[in-house]
Amino acid sequence: MGEKKKKIVKTIKVDVDKCNGCRACELACSAFHATPKYSSNNPERSRIRVIRDPLRDIYVPVLAGEYTPAECMGRDKYTIDGKEYDECAFCRASCPSRDLFKEPDSGLPLKCDMCEDDPPLEEPMCVQWCLADALTYEEREEEVEEEEKMEDLEIGLESLANTYGLEKIMDAVARMSLSKKG
Ligand code: SF4
Ligand code: SF4
Repeated sequence: MGEKKKKIVKTIKVDVDKCNGCRACELACSAFHATPKYSSNNPERSRIRVIRDPLRDIYVPVLAGEYTPAECMGRDKYTIDGKEYDECAFCRASCPSRDLFKEPDSGLPLKCDMCEDDPPLEEPMCVQWCLADALTYEEREEEVEEEEKMEDLEIGLESLANTYGLEKIMDAVARMSLSKKG
């Protein structure tokens, strides 16, 4: 059994009924995560995407979750107001089965990081820019077992290794380190 430690659990509550599909959250998220910060915005790079069905006035904001190297064995299918949506339409995973939640250029997975920053933001950007109050932010403290957390760098490397093979990644790193030395 590991040590117990305190952890702040951050939650974004999504009220689908209040979302009007304006997509300000997508722009705010992508601008905040641009390098340099706020230098560009592109919903394709956003860690929140709004699944939109304007004819039925249905808009569902989905926050990017974990990266998965392989498609899962099961599928989910939602029916809302009598309309059946595509398989996996509302899934949060960055998964090989679709383009959602991947950097458009590199294909690296995107994951909501709750806008971690130094100094911390009062509220994540998507929440700040959602003028319809469809997104609200909450924090609470919980006691949890201490566990090793996979760093973003490792997740990125794992994703590259799954796409190109570990050997190619090792070769590329070796070449890069040689060229830096030379
Ligand atoms: S900013 Fe708010 S209302 Fe606009 S699309 Fe995003 S969640 Fe919906
Ligand atoms: S909390 Fe921050 S990183 Fe997560 S979706 Fe909202 S703006 Fe993007």
